[in-house]
Amino acid sequence: MRFSFAAGEHKFKCVQCGNCCYPGGLSLTPAERKEMSGYPEAVGKLSENLNPPFSHILVCEGRCPFLNDDMLCNIYNSRPGVCVSFPLTFTYSPQGELCVNFIRCPGTDVEDGEAVDEKFVEKTMVEVEKRNPGYFEELKRQRVQEHQLLSPFYSQAELTDFDSKQRFKERLAQLMILTAVDGRQFRSSCHAFLNLARQGIESEIRALGFGRGNRKTVLFEEDIARIEGRVEREIENNHEALSKEYEILIDQREREALRTGSCEIYWEGEVKKVKLEEQLETRSLTGKRVVVKASSVYLKREFSTAAFKTLVEHLAEALVRVDLSGFPMSTPTSVLLQVLGDYVNNLEIACYIYSQEGKIVPKDVATSVVNDYDTFFVLGGIHAEGTGAGLPQLR
Ligand code: SF4
Ligand code: SF4
Repeated sequence: MRFSFAAGEHKFKCVQCGNCCYPGGLSLTPAERKEMSGYPEAVGKLSENLNPPFSHILVCEGRCPFLNDDMLCNIYNSRPGVCVSFPLTFTYSPQGELCVNFIRCPGTDVEDGEAVDEKFVEKTMVEVEKRNPGYFEELKRQRVQEHQLLSPFYSQAELTDFDSKQRFKERLAQLMILTAVDGRQFRSSCHAFLNLARQGIESEIRALGFGRGNRKTVLFEEDIARIEGRVEREIENNHEALSKEYEILIDQREREALRTGSCEIYWEGEVKKVKLEEQLETRSLTGKRVVVKASSVYLKREFSTAAFKTLVEHLAEALVRVDLSGFPMSTPTSVLLQVLGDYVNNLEIACYIYSQEGKIVPKDVATSVVNDYDTFFVLGGIHAEGTGAGLPQLR
């Protein structure tokens, strides 16, 4: 078993908030899809032919059709495996190793929660099997097969083996924790890291002779070691300067907004020109009405050291996760880095909304945001990959 999280570090107890029932889409195995097709609520919502083992999606469009108004599941006893296992997600690597992820949600670290350790994982597996006999066998059977062992590395044009790609992401995650240091603005620091990582990978791939017109398509260990070296150098040499550049841009935009009293803001899926005093309305991830002043989400705040650390560690873990934890293994790293960039913006805006008028974002706010948004990110990510849609933005 391979865990993408530190076993035993967190606790969990479901608080029945229903957040995990507000996904973009639910991933299903072929057998579950067959069962689902018998429910009238699922008619016209079952998409096909995605990546194994979850080769189908029940399109939920922000709220599962089986969630009732009491926040209870109408098909509780025959709900899909991903619902039973939540907040854990399971997948088999091409070599047949079971990969386990732990998704943060409002039930994470509640005081009387259970430790999320190996025992917890085994207990969850038993529960899934009880509800859905043969589930793990099916996951294993449906895993990416030997002849498909190569997975896209950066774009669909370069391939590498699953383990090398995974190791690369693990190295990148460590580097992220070391680099995206407190003392910089959260958004500029993370964007600088993600953009430099992309640039480093791209330039080295080109230098290695990959790309249009070239016949080279498979990256071997030594190629990846070169890419890693290049990414490390890019980040070491340029992270500080690039974050500073982004900070200056953000500061300039803020000064201009304060001078004119208006700003441009990305809100409900579009860029809007609004007055700083204007009240903006949106819905929370679970559909509750939220009203905020434009200035309170436009003007940056400081993050406490602990809040900064919480968010960066969370992003690093998201980078490492495989398959069901948001991105099937066929997702190229370029897509992953891009989506993480969008996610950084979502996290920051959510921290501002959650901390209301406070000047500094404290750790408990960052933790609540992670616990709410991880579910959304993971489930939205699966949906985005499955349907080709972008990651849903804060609504
Ligand atoms: S999001 Fe977590 S706490 Fe909320 S209902 Fe789902 S499992 Fe329970
Ligand atoms: S099937 Fe049930 S448990 Fe699963 S997302 Fe829908 S309402 Fe929630």
